[in-house]
Amino acid sequence: MNIFQTDIKFVPGVGPKRAEILNKEISLFTLGDLLRWYPYRYIDRSRIYYIHEIDNSMAYIQLKGKITSFESFGEGHRRRLVAHFTDGTGFIDLIWFQGTRFIEGKYKVNQEYVLFGKPSLFNGRWNIAHPELDPFMDESDRPEGLMAMYNTTESMKNHHLNSRAMQKIIENAFGMIRERLPETLSPDVVSEAKLMPFHDAMENIHFPKSPSLLRDAEYRMKFEELFYIQLNIVRYASERKEKLKGFVFGKVGDYFNSFYRQNLPFPLTDAQKRVIREIRKDTASGKQMNRLLQGDVGSGKTLVAIMCMLIALDNGYQSCLMAPTEILASQHFDTFGEMLSGMDLRVELLTGSTKRKEREVIHAGLQSGEIDILIGTHALIEGTVQFHNLGFVVIDEQHRFGVMQRAKLWTKNDRPPHVLVMTATPIPRTLAMTVYGDLDVSVIDELPPGRKPVQTLHRYDKKRGALYQFIREQIRAGRQAYIVYPLIEESEKLDLKNLEEGYLHIREAFPEFSVCKMHGRMKPSEKDEVMRQFVLNEAQIMVSTTVIEVGVNVPNASVMVIESAQRFGLSQLHQLRGRVGRGAEQSYCVLITPYEISSDTRKRMEIMTGSNDGFVIAEADLKLRGPGDLEGTQQSGIPFDLRIADPVKDSNILFRAREIAEDLTEKDPALEQPEHLVLKQQLDRLGGNRYEWGRIS
Ligand code: ADP
Ligand code: MG
Repeated sequence: MNIFQTDIKFVPGVGPKRAEILNKEISLFTLGDLLRWYPYRYIDRSRIYYIHEIDNSMAYIQLKGKITSFESFGEGHRRRLVAHFTDGTGFIDLIWFQGTRFIEGKYKVNQEYVLFGKPSLFNGRWNIAHPELDPFMDESDRPEGLMAMYNTTESMKNHHLNSRAMQKIIENAFGMIRERLPETLSPDVVSEAKLMPFHDAMENIHFPKSPSLLRDAEYRMKFEELFYIQLNIVRYASERKEKLKGFVFGKVGDYFNSFYRQNLPFPLTDAQKRVIREIRKDTASGKQMNRLLQGDVGSGKTLVAIMCMLIALDNGYQSCLMAPTEILASQHFDTFGEMLSGMDLRVELLTGSTKRKEREVIHAGLQSGEIDILIGTHALIEGTVQFHNLGFVVIDEQHRFGVMQRAKLWTKNDRPPHVLVMTATPIPRTLAMTVYGDLDVSVIDELPPGRKPVQTLHRYDKKRGALYQFIREQIRAGRQAYIVYPLIEESEKLDLKNLEEGYLHIREAFPEFSVCKMHGRMKPSEKDEVMRQFVLNEAQIMVSTTVIEVGVNVPNASVMVIESAQRFGLSQLHQLRGRVGRGAEQSYCVLITPYEISSDTRKRMEIMTGSNDGFVIAEADLKLRGPGDLEGTQQSGIPFDLRIADPVKDSNILFRAREIAEDLTEKDPALEQPEHLVLKQQLDRLGGNRYEWGRIS
């Protein structure tokens, strides 16, 4: 029997109707899918609690006692049944909202039951809604040890598919399986990583025989998940290293050298030097470079990009830089203009709002090779944009770009250009290995000297007076301030209303200063105008939505106020904070929330006020949200379907899986040995065209 071809509806207890719900709700289609619906936690059923011990910290408990009486309230579908239950140490109410008649008929007063459920406190009384009740037989007959708990959805529960029912179905599934489940890893991997066999692991995941067997089973399943992702990546990377030849940037010439001697306004940080060396080495190697450059906001990535583009130019190649927004593109264009002033080279800007006439001139200049460096938005990947000899591509703030857009860049020359992806959203190393496993990663882990870390404060929204006074002092001292209003996802209209009200309010509060505003629905030319005002300090306060989140650089701005900060994720808050602290002055970021906030929000505020380190923030973000939510992973185009492993928490397993995948790929790159056939089959099963994504990252 192939568990991945056995329809879930044939599992006893499922049937066509429930199968449909399982398909729709949690995408379970086959017996194999069902077995991989892993428990999210386990409950120790060997322990029976007393009612007087119950406290808030208990998620699920087991009690032993008797029902003293039933009582019912309401009529029809509103009917609610309450059973008063005692074990001699106290009373607790058992409550049913559904199936009340059935329950009443089934359970008897004064008979001994073992009860299992989740206690909650209501009006000072403990109760358990929809508990499980089993007649107490004797000690030996009780369910013992660890019991698996399964995630279920609202709709599943409405069809009586609760955790207990899922457990029963999985038990039935095991009943159908006559032979041992076949191994899904090759024997050499199983023994090298000292793994529990697949069948035993599967059984112990669902029905743990002991805590230590459960641990081994979990290790095995986590390893397997991470191993196949790594094997995929490692194989692809080695394949590509064979196949993809890159342009050779053999020398460093006049452009680079004269820039270094005459234009460079400040010494490079050690981290910048190191990264440039790494890129130098890659681009001279004859292989095509695919490199991710991570550096916190303000760490000086742009300068690295400029210098590498000059190396490309020294070797006769054009380069381009792609930014996610027009504002950013034109800021880069200005920066390039300043940095490269006096040098004999031509830089152009191409965005969606470039006029047709200009556009034609640029197209011609690119084709003839007169233009050396092109800066732009996604406008530069349009088919009409053809280069004479594109050799180096920089993508800024990569997570804003879809995979398809990036893919188009590859067609701009007969060989793929070297690609440098820059991001200020630090991706923890473990996740980078999982998602961008075949990209080489460089890190700028040092800010230019003289920067003072931004001070971050959390304030409640009732206490604005003091904050405004503070902003006033900062502006009087010559600084500027941002005030950011949140994006309200459900409605762009509301969003603007929110911003508009904020704008009016701020203007009233600061009549002595000039206030400008910016939002995503303004025309690029309007945004440019607002930006210009702010850059020139014609406006002292900018009221904005999150459009300023990435990249905008106004070193004189020293205050970032984030309204309704509870609506933002950690990475976004950190990005916004990165807009200040770019000059020599002490800067401040003020997070404003209501007084009443969830514990999750409080945690985020604590993390923000406690750390300026993008990596710390990103790790924390990942832990709070889980990797599936992380910006970039969904768009990265790989199936990122981790059911049991967590790339952060299970980093040791991840590294081990990587090692073994590397060894294996070295020994048997094509997976030709008979014992590796199973690996090939699993790779195929796990995901058709997974190889493609790496190509275009
Ligand atoms: P990022 O893109 O990494 O957020 P930028 O490249 O915009 O950072 O750099 C932020 C600021 O720091 C810019 O004003 C830049 O000119 C300046 N800068 C870059 N490198 C250095 C350095 N080595 N020393 C001093 N200032 C630097
Ligand atoms: Mg930048």
